Amino acid sequence: MNQTLLIAGGGIGGMAAALACARAGTPVTLLEQAAEFAEVGAGIQLGPNAVRVLADWGLTDALEAVAAFPEQLRVRDAHSGGTLGELRLGQRAADTYGQPYATIHRADAHQMLLTAVQALGAGGHPVPELHLNERLYTLDESLGGVVARAESGLLCEGGALVGADGLWSVVRPHVMDGPARVHDSLAAAQEAPPRFSGHLAYRGMVSQSDLPAALRNRNVTAWLGPRLHVVHYPVCAGQKVNIVAVVHGQPSGNPTSWTHQAHSDDLMAALGPVHRDLQGMLDAVPQWRLWPLNDRPPMTGAYAQARGRVALLGDAAHPMRPYLAQGAAMALEDAWTLGQLLCSARSQPVTPWEGLFQRYAEVRWKRNARVQAHSARNGRIFHAEGLVRRGRDWAMALGGEWLLDNPWLYSGPPMPSVFHS
Ligand SMILES: Cc1cc2nc3c(=O)[nH]c(=O)nc-3n(C[C@H](O)[C@H](O)[C@H](O)COP(=O)(O)OP(=O)(O)OC[C@H]3O[C@@H](n4cnc5c(N)ncnc54)[C@H](O)[C@@H]3O)c2cc1C
Repeated sequence: MNQTLLIAGGGIGGMAAALACARAGTPVTLLEQAAEFAEVGAGIQLGPNAVRVLADWGLTDALEAVAAFPEQLRVRDAHSGGTLGELRLGQRAADTYGQPYATIHRADAHQMLLTAVQALGAGGHPVPELHLNERLYTLDESLGGVVARAESGLLCEGGALVGADGLWSVVRPHVMDGPARVHDSLAAAQEAPPRFSGHLAYRGMVSQSDLPAALRNRNVTAWLGPRLHVVHYPVCAGQKVNIVAVVHGQPSGNPTSWTHQAHSDDLMAALGPVHRDLQGMLDAVPQWRLWPLNDRPPMTGAYAQARGRVALLGDAAHPMRPYLAQGAAMALEDAWTLGQLLCSARSQPVTPWEGLFQRYAEVRWKRNARVQAHSARNGRIFHAEGLVRRGRDWAMALGGEWLLDNPWLYSGPPMPSVFHS
C-alpha cells in the first residue's frame, strides 16, 4: 500500500509540512505550481509559539543567522506620534515563554525550511520529492488512497493528501463538499469564496542604512490611526526594515494575485498627513507592493480542516487578516501537529490516515478559529475612530503590557495527545 503523503503547495506551510512529516519517517511528494521556490519580498513576525516549532525542528541556529529579535513592541499614535502602549519582547519573551520573539524576511524563512528539507537524508529521514511547475488540478480519493493530477498531466499516487495551497486552494472544496452541510449556515459560509476585508496592505522594504539615522530602529512599531495602521520591524538580521501600511480601499486587478505594483502617491493619499517620524519611514521606501487582504470567517468545526484522506493546512484552511501576525505561525503549528501525530502512529504497520487527519483537525481547528477571530477584532481596534478610539487609547494606557501580550497564543502550540487508531 502506498504510504506516501502528497502535499499541494510549497509555501511556508507546505514546506513546513514536508519537513515535519518526513522527520516522522513519512515519504513525501510535494507539488508546487511556481517555477521556483521563491517568496515575496516581505517580512513576517514569528511569535514565541512559531519559534518553538522551529526550535523543535533543530532550526534555532539557522533562525538566529537570518532573523532579528526585537527588544520591544511600541504602539504609537499615527498623528501625534505619542506612545499608546509598550510590550517588552527580547529577554522578557524568552524568559516568559522559553522562546524569543523573532522577525524575519519571508524568503529567509522559506529558505531555512527548504534547506532543512534537503538535508533530511543526512539524518536518515526520507527526503521529500519536490516537484516545481506542477499545479495540482484534480484529486480522487478512493478506498486505498489519493490520486492527484497536475495540469501538466503528472499523476501522483499517495496514501493521503495535504492541501497547503493557500487562500485560493483547489483542495479545499474537496474537504468542504461533505455530506449535507449546506443546511448549516455557518458551514455554508466556510464553503463560500474568500471575502475581501475592505483593507489594502502596502508592503515595502528599506535598508537601515538608507533611513535617516534618527529613524533606524530594531523594534516592532505599530502606528494606529482612524481607518489606518502601519507596522514596521527589522528583518535580515536587522539590516533591513519591513513596512506594512494598511488602509481602507478597493482592489483592482486579479484578486487571486498576492502582489500588485503600487504607487506611493496612492498610499500617501489614503493615509493623509501622519507624524513626521512615520512619514520619514514611508518616504524612504523605494518600492511598494499592494496586497488586497482577504480572509474567511473563523472555522466552525473540525470538518473544515480535514475529511477522509485529505487535510488542509495554513491559509488553505484558515486564512486570516494579518493583525495578530500569526498566519504563517498557524501554518507552522499545523505542520508541527501533523508531524507529532505521525510520530505517535509510527509503530503501526500502515498509517491510519483518516483517523490521524481527524485527530489533527480536532487538535487544530479551535485554536486556528480563535486566532482568525482575534485577528479580525484587532483590525477593528487598530482602525477605530471617535469614542472607540479614545476608549482603546485609555485602555492601553491603563492595561499596558497586559493588553498587548498574548500568553494563550505564545505559549503554544498545544501538544496533541498520543494518537491511537
Ligand atoms: C500583509 C501580510 C502580513 C503578514 N504578516 C504575517 C506575520 O507577521 N506573521 C505571520 O505568521 N503571518 C503573516 N502573514 C500571513 C502569512 O503570510 C500567511 O498566513 C502564510 O504565508 C500562509 O502560508 P501557506 O503556505 O499556507 O500559504 P501560501 O504562502 O499562500 O502558499 C501556498 C503555496 O501553494 C502554491 N499553490 C497554490 N495553488 C497550487 C496548486 N493548485 N498546485 C500546486 N501549488 C499551488 C502557491 O504557489 C504557494 O507557493 C501576513 C500576510 C499578509 C498578507
